[in-house]
Amino acid sequence: MEHLKISEAQRVIFESLTTLDSESVLLEHSLGRVLADDIRANRDLPPYDVSAMDGYAVRSADLAQVPVTLEVIEDIKAGDMPGKIVQPGQCARIMTGAPVPQGADAVMRVEDTQEISTNLIQVITTIKDGHDVRPQGENMRNGDVVLSAGTEITPGVIGILATVKITQMQVYRRPRVAILSTGNELEAINDPVDMNKIPDSNSYALMAQVQALGITPALLGIARDDPAELERYLKLGLEYDVLLVSGGTSVGVHDYVRPTIEKLGVAMKFWRVAMKPGHPLAFGVLHGTSGASEKGATQRDAVVFGLPGNPVSSMVCFEEFVAPALRRMMGHTRLFRRTVSARLAHPLKMRPGRTEFVRVQLTHDDTGYIASSTGTQSSGVLLSMARADGLLVMPSDSTGLAAGAQVTVQLLDGTVYQDGTNIRE
Ligand code: AMP
Ligand code: MG
Repeated sequence: MEHLKISEAQRVIFESLTTLDSESVLLEHSLGRVLADDIRANRDLPPYDVSAMDGYAVRSADLAQVPVTLEVIEDIKAGDMPGKIVQPGQCARIMTGAPVPQGADAVMRVEDTQEISTNLIQVITTIKDGHDVRPQGENMRNGDVVLSAGTEITPGVIGILATVKITQMQVYRRPRVAILSTGNELEAINDPVDMNKIPDSNSYALMAQVQALGITPALLGIARDDPAELERYLKLGLEYDVLLVSGGTSVGVHDYVRPTIEKLGVAMKFWRVAMKPGHPLAFGVLHGTSGASEKGATQRDAVVFGLPGNPVSSMVCFEEFVAPALRRMMGHTRLFRRTVSARLAHPLKMRPGRTEFVRVQLTHDDTGYIASSTGTQSSGVLLSMARADGLLVMPSDSTGLAAGAQVTVQLLDGTVYQDGTNIRE
């Protein structure tokens, strides 16, 4: 197999995935999830024409000649129903959100009136029919779809759900994710410090990346570079919807991950992508054993990502491939990190051939974002990832950029994603 382009690898991944089934959640636990059903309005909102202002409900025809004096026939507060019909020469004092009484067709702001006595006002400006009236059904009409399936639940969406009295709803299930580190040289977080070992950071960095998507992963621990031990761990990992394995996917003699997952029945789709850092990356699918589950074989599909062992590479591969996959399984349509345009603070050298992701910090001035490298870009230097606000994407044909060049940066913070990668490979 040769090196795939990033977009090709993403396409292969997406073709192998389906959105998971749905489950019911309470409104208060729904933030960040994706609606699996359409949501309809259960009434007109507002239920009738209401006032958009504190003022007077008037007949606009009465104001053809101003100034004009009108009789105030009643006081309508929000929550009150009008008791009287406004006749020519009359008006009603009205508060924001209160129903506009019959006969009236517009609302005059308090500021544009003068009180003559408790039940007489003088109006000094004219207004048109419908002025400062929020018409019935302006927000929503009874029966209309107000939120469609596939909508990500944001605080604003929660407000709409509350408006239509949805306290519980169907959302797409979150994938169950397992994380496994591999390598004889690795030291577990609670092991005593051994100068000859490498601390396992991947388990935790990946854990946090998964958590940032609203999923709590299972940490399986560290498997030694031993085929039998790896097989035991990988078998366990394949019980999950998604297994993330870091390390051991290369072509070294002790890189047993790929042969072992293949032995367990996983169909490998690719294992090389033309990017830096982030190579090698393996992806495979285990199709559910037929008839094993009530709902059919597809229910038991598992996907495996063999991520590079280098700490930065595994994190970058997570951003470019795993996060979009997990988001897709959860029903999201915006799968990719938001990109912004920035100016480069300094020159950047590059050897063409692979798309490069450069860890950058972003500042801004009045012309926009400015990107500067976070330091050594070696895939083993995790500190430069820890300091990064974003990943600057250098197209594979680039030979370098001068200071001030316009670049594309994927933002690493926040929960906002976009529907296309918007990068040039
Ligand atoms: P590998 O892909 O197994 O050849 O590993 C590449 C590099 O990443 C080696 O220097 C490993 O020590 C390092 N590495 C592998 N797994 C981890 C891990 N879980 N945490 C930190 N570094 C790792
Ligand atoms: Mg290794």
